[in-house]
Amino acid sequence: MNAPDVVVCSAKGCRAPARHTLVWNNPKIHTPDREKTWTACDEHREPLSHHLSMRSFLRRVDPLPQDR
Ligand SMILES: [Zn+2]
Repeated sequence: MNAPDVVVCSAKGCRAPARHTLVWNNPKIHTPDREKTWTACDEHREPLSHHLSMRSFLRRVDPLPQDR
């Protein structure tokens, strides 16, 4: 990934730099090979992954690749 700007957290209203990637899939609307991602800062990794795992959407949490 080669984004020119810092990747920010996907949580609403949060502008912290993301440090994790939440990989998820909604079986009702996505084919199994489809992977959606959210980014999360340290603070929101927990609530966002909880939100997804409650719905059985969460597949895994990866560290966000850091440029530079
Ligand atoms: Zn955040």
